[in-house]
Amino acid sequence: TFHPFRCLMPLPGQLTPPTRLLLGPGPSDAHPRVLAAMTTPLLGHLDPAFLEIMSETQDMLRQVFQTKNALTIPMSATGMAGMETCFVNLVEPGDKVVLCVAGYFGTRMVDVAGRCGAELTVLNGTWGEPFDLSLIRETVQKVKPRVLGIVHAETSTGCLQPIAELGKLCHEFDTLLITDTVTSLGCVPVKLDEWEIDAAFSCSQKGLSCPPGLSPVSLSERAVSKVKARKSKVQSWYLDLTSIMSYWGGDRAYHHTAPISMIYAIREGLRLALEEGVENRIARRVEKHLARQAGSLALGLSYTAKEGHQLPQLNAIRIPDGIDDVAGRKKLLTDFGIEVGGGLGDFKGKAWRIGLMGYNSRPNCVFQVLAALETVLRSMGAKIEPGKGVAAAEQAY
Ligand SMILES: *Cc1c(COP(=O)(O)O)cnc(C)c1O
Repeated sequence: TFHPFRCLMPLPGQLTPPTRLLLGPGPSDAHPRVLAAMTTPLLGHLDPAFLEIMSETQDMLRQVFQTKNALTIPMSATGMAGMETCFVNLVEPGDKVVLCVAGYFGTRMVDVAGRCGAELTVLNGTWGEPFDLSLIRETVQKVKPRVLGIVHAETSTGCLQPIAELGKLCHEFDTLLITDTVTSLGCVPVKLDEWEIDAAFSCSQKGLSCPPGLSPVSLSERAVSKVKARKSKVQSWYLDLTSIMSYWGGDRAYHHTAPISMIYAIREGLRLALEEGVENRIARRVEKHLARQAGSLALGLSYTAKEGHQLPQLNAIRIPDGIDDVAGRKKLLTDFGIEVGGGLGDFKGKAWRIGLMGYNSRPNCVFQVLAALETVLRSMGAKIEPGKGVAAAEQAY
């Protein structure tokens, strides 16, 4: 029977999560300053002091996105909601949409845009390889879509797509460019204005050293005017930017209660990024990548993405023959407290994904994961000279 005062099952113990190093494709560990910011007292979501915090957050977000876009806000949900926000606002039923797909998150764009009633053209690329720009041009010229969508940093393959010229190409044909910058923002250059990107979305838990829970989104003026000129209502109430805009930018009309502590978190995460300087942070990350790449190659591990297009923030490596995917990752977790990601889609069971994102882009993460990987691989029968990976990384630094 129900007891009004007491928990009738044995009361679960106070929360004490095990110590982990999160080196997967996200979440990565939150920076201690971000965690501290989250424990500061709540404010009301319409309190003038909170409105000030919102404005500061937007200003910093614009700098990290390298844009002047007025509509630059963190949506109150994870990265996928950012993807959905861009598509539900910019695509109406029957609109033509071209999607470049060369990985798992590209296939998600197909699903999301399809649910908006888009008339889809899918360009299927090779997983782990960049798209040929002339092929995209031919397609856009032929289809003249309202929207072109592409994933900048494909987390499933570890491949970076060259998108700097894509915005100009799209605008020749009055097409809007939507880019998934979930794994690129804060990790590699993302220049919305210079690259003429119309809509971009990201997340808090990868390059920005925060817990999951927010999805930064930015829309160009061109994109905003298309949203305002829609013939039909946005099909999602919660993600409808026409109303969210007035809470974040306009008359501060109540739309939903902002997740106060998460806004504190991203404010601190953005402060950390700008304190260091986005370009400095990027240089540092490339350096870590090269060190770990040297270490990985010394351990006999090859990359799933083409040479020259590998993400510095996410090392996707092929699992060597004879090594069991699940058992290997389990050993890394239980023996070393290190989480790495498994493969997705076509790469399921074939790849491990090792992130160096946000707070975890530090030398000790490089050395820890190389030492642990070596030990695990050797225990599973790989013939590796002891200390080879760590020595190669040390050399590379
Ligand atoms: C992680 C990721 C997402 C999804 O973000 P969530 O925060 O998990 O919702 C989307 N796109 C890419 C490229 C990602 O890496």
